[in-house]
Amino acid sequence: MRVTPLFPDTRLVEIHGRLLARYGQPAARDVWDPLKQFIYSLLSSRTKTEVSHEVVRHLEIKFESWEKLRDASIPEIEDAIRAITFPEQKAVHLKRALEQITQRCGTLSLDLLKSYRTDKVRSWLERFDGVGAKTSAAIVNFSTLRRRAICVDSHHLRVTQRLGLVSKSADARATEDRLMEMAPATWSAEMLDEHHTLIKIHGQQTCTFAEPRCRTCPLLDICPTGAKTANSQGK
Ligand code: SF4
Repeated sequence: MRVTPLFPDTRLVEIHGRLLARYGQPAARDVWDPLKQFIYSLLSSRTKTEVSHEVVRHLEIKFESWEKLRDASIPEIEDAIRAITFPEQKAVHLKRALEQITQRCGTLSLDLLKSYRTDKVRSWLERFDGVGAKTSAAIVNFSTLRRRAICVDSHHLRVTQRLGLVSKSADARATEDRLMEMAPATWSAEMLDEHHTLIKIHGQQTCTFAEPRCRTCPLLDICPTGAKTANSQGK
């Protein structure tokens, strides 16, 4: 049984406000249809954002349509996505997913999902190889579906764990569940996207993987990890 807290946990709102003050309003997202976002999200894990964007642009130009990409051979797809990580595995997942979408929807389009509830869209997407909580959240939140979800990528997971909002062993799904409990109900899909982007920027510029810059972090006074790290950095 879930216990309702006596006081609302406002840390997410506080964190959002401070990151907005530090980094400014993130650039508006180029919102794609669900299929293009699906392709991007399937390919982009463990790959730099600019490289992933470049590869998707390359696929659009080279194959001219997603149907031609679906019908291409695996070696041809693998060659076209060689700039990203794990191209062998991702080429197989991508081709199989595009074929399965065609079978399940009767056409190569995810427009069918527009009429589904968000939880149904998420479970529908997560039946594809290579699609877990992070990827399904990205597809429903970043695309024109624009549903409420938080994409917990590696930056988001690391920053959230260091801030003590979730345990060190929490995975993307458990972290998203906890963050969605903390996020005000008034935060729209666009606002949750903005929150994700601010945390990601923070993870790239300040709370970096190798050496977090805690002494200059705007979240230092509310971060249990920062309290320890800043002390050791000050010695
Ligand atoms: S204080 Fe340090 S560990 Fe905490 S969020 Fe900031 S950079 Fe990350």
